[in-house]
Amino acid sequence: MNSILWFIIAVLFIIAVWLAWRHIVLRRRLNEYIRALHQKDVSTLPVHVDGIEELSRAVHAFISSLDTQLSALNTEHARLAAVLDQMTDGVVIVDSQGRIQFANPASKKLFETVDPISRSIIEVVRHHQLVEAWRRSQQTRELQSESVEVPARRQFLQLVVIPDQYTDGSLLLVQDLTRVRRLETVRRDFISNISHELRTPLASLKALTETLQDGALSDPEAGPRFLSRIVTEVDALTQMTQELLDLSRIESGQVELNLAPISPKALLMSAGDRMKLQAERAGLKLCVECSDDLPNIRADQARLEQVLVNLIHNAVKFTRPGGEVVLLAESADTEEHSAGSGVRFAVKDTGIGIPSDDVSRIFERFYRVDRSRSGSGTGLGLSIARHIVEAHRGKIWVDSVEGRGSTFFFTIPKA
Ligand code: ADP
Repeated sequence: MNSILWFIIAVLFIIAVWLAWRHIVLRRRLNEYIRALHQKDVSTLPVHVDGIEELSRAVHAFISSLDTQLSALNTEHARLAAVLDQMTDGVVIVDSQGRIQFANPASKKLFETVDPISRSIIEVVRHHQLVEAWRRSQQTRELQSESVEVPARRQFLQLVVIPDQYTDGSLLLVQDLTRVRRLETVRRDFISNISHELRTPLASLKALTETLQDGALSDPEAGPRFLSRIVTEVDALTQMTQELLDLSRIESGQVELNLAPISPKALLMSAGDRMKLQAERAGLKLCVECSDDLPNIRADQARLEQVLVNLIHNAVKFTRPGGEVVLLAESADTEEHSAGSGVRFAVKDTGIGIPSDDVSRIFERFYRVDRSRSGSGTGLGLSIARHIVEAHRGKIWVDSVEGRGSTFFFTIPKA
């Protein structure tokens, strides 16, 4: 009986020791496991750990699901960052104190600042109306928008301030409407110009026909005179319509250029010959200065001749008798146009020149420096010239001193 009791005690003791040892082992494994988790070394974490299989499996499943979510979040973050980086609208996040927390590249460009983070919105935006819009939104916690012109930066900006519902900060969206504004102005000016240009010849046509109806038709002397004035007005209208048509076809890319290798000298000689008589009649000397060894250009001969004729026509029109018009061509530097090296043409006159305020505008449609001095022009010639040159991937510009003369330059890529 005693020996059975001792046997039971021994067995129980062995079981107790085994359980205690197993408990110690399990605790150690659990500690190691937790330490590995702590060190975030998830890759070395065993999937099956003896004794804590269920826990290790659950942790593993949890970690892989976290991993998936994290990589989805990272992808989303990268996508968002790419959108914010590439978008042309500015996005700025400010805190409740007006300190900038985030600014995308577009906003840095719009506000012409390099590192706006942690700086004050007032300092970065530098426009009281825009700052006021942000203040209003801070006070009312409502969306505010404001459109302003920033003359110092020649910009027209629209700002939308959206208060953040979760923090006291706000999100600022900045749109650059400068181009849209300019296009609107050009369109409005175009319509008003064209109406104005049509009204004058139409009014004189009406006056002339009414005079003829009132009896001048039967007058042998006045009748033919009025008729010839009608023809002149109709010719002017036809020329304007033709120029407008040309311009719109070139602008919309409908005109196909017949590109071929052309000798710059031959081009200057041909345009010069066409305008020689007109220059002589105006009492001007017209000459060509061009070396024979210039490289050929790749151009549409007829269109480029039209450019030169327009420029020479203006030079003749705006130069007093006794003056001089020179046609030049020389080799041009690479940076003057994107299509590699080419030839720079120039039409130089000793005429009345262009006031410096008007120089930047004379290539616009219908723009004339002084209507009274421009005579019969439509203000479309230079606009057509610019479009033709740009269609050749070249550039056109002018240097002029009022009272001394003007030089119109344009570059054309070489063949
Ligand atoms: P227009 O048919 O009126 O000449 P353009 O577009 O050819 O139209 O020229 C626009 C304006 O630019 C002219 O009205 C004139 O005021 C000015 N301009 C152009 N070329 C010259 C020049 N060589 N000298 C002085 N002014 C010029």
